[in-house]
Amino acid sequence: MIPITKPFLPPQEAYENYLNGIWKRQWLTNMGPLASELEMKLKAELKLKHLLFVTNGTVALQMAIKALDLKGDIITTPFSFVATTSSIVWEGCQPVFVDIDKNSLNIDATKIEAAITEKTTAILATHVYGNPCDVVSIDRIAKKHNLKIIYDGAHAFGVEIYGKSIFEYGDISICSLHATKLYHSVEGGLVITKDASLLKKLAYVRNFGFDGPESFAELGINGKNSEFHAAMGLANLSYIDAIHLKRKLLTEGYDKNLKGLKAVKPVFHREGSLNYAYYALIFDDESLMLKCMKGLAATEIFTRRYFYPSLANSLPYVEPKDLEVTDDIAKRVLCLPLYYDLTVEEVELISRLLLRIQNN
Ligand SMILES: *Cc1c(COP(=O)(O)O)cnc(C)c1O
Repeated sequence: MIPITKPFLPPQEAYENYLNGIWKRQWLTNMGPLASELEMKLKAELKLKHLLFVTNGTVALQMAIKALDLKGDIITTPFSFVATTSSIVWEGCQPVFVDIDKNSLNIDATKIEAAITEKTTAILATHVYGNPCDVVSIDRIAKKHNLKIIYDGAHAFGVEIYGKSIFEYGDISICSLHATKLYHSVEGGLVITKDASLLKKLAYVRNFGFDGPESFAELGINGKNSEFHAAMGLANLSYIDAIHLKRKLLTEGYDKNLKGLKAVKPVFHREGSLNYAYYALIFDDESLMLKCMKGLAATEIFTRRYFYPSLANSLPYVEPKDLEVTDDIAKRVLCLPLYYDLTVEEVELISRLLLRIQNN
């Protein structure tokens, strides 16, 4: 059996070494020494001035919307994980969907301005598969119309653009450190901003709004993460280069072996670096994609329609809206298995099977 993904696990001893320290200190959560160490090391790894380690990527999105005090309409992408939209609704705002670009699969920046009204307060865009959005155009539009920008960078760990971290863009960026993501702390997330006063506010929001043991500065939530999660993040951080290299090798294996397949890959930003978070293919038509998916599943190889269906017409709490490019792409897209333990031989096998299924 080959699953779509498999979480990376460090050698058990590496994790246990951190546990020994936790048992000695008996400090389990509430921004303990491991959580602080993880934040420090991630800042160095990602070349960022500020970041906060939080509960998960979804809470990170909710904290971002809350800290920016957003109301009204938020322009967003229908081609993302459900948390991108649900966090907008959860915070009492209204998602306004703008269609995606058929090559990058990110929100189509040329269509954003037409969707702006006097109710619009922000843009929440996802760097799909770690492929940077058109951050320059989005920034220009936001400045012109006085809108805030939040980037859902759940897929974008380690990606750089124009020589700096993708997380430096927007007012706030978030990342997910969930077990299925390329780098993880079992459950976890990051909130990133360049703005020191916004960071301070986010730190209050993460900790119930506490400003000392008996006073409060903000409306807060419990956005903290534990020492056990930080330990996994720290243990995994030593393997980040190995993970990157392995995923690159596997991706190149698919590229080389899938030449005859009637499918294309998303077009990645010319100025962005690649983190090989996913291997997504856009098939020429849905029936070929389904044939391939079912054919692989028959041999116990599991793929995933990520993202399908469109968030704009599948959520019971959102007024349905059809979007030409998104609806078309979502029907034809399929992600292939990609994880650290996958072998080059398995990639060759999957590729061979795919071509055989297509040509049968
Ligand atoms: C995984 C993911 C999230 C949610 O992150 P969690 O850490 O699982 O809460 C949000 N957006 C996107 C695009 C994701 O892939």
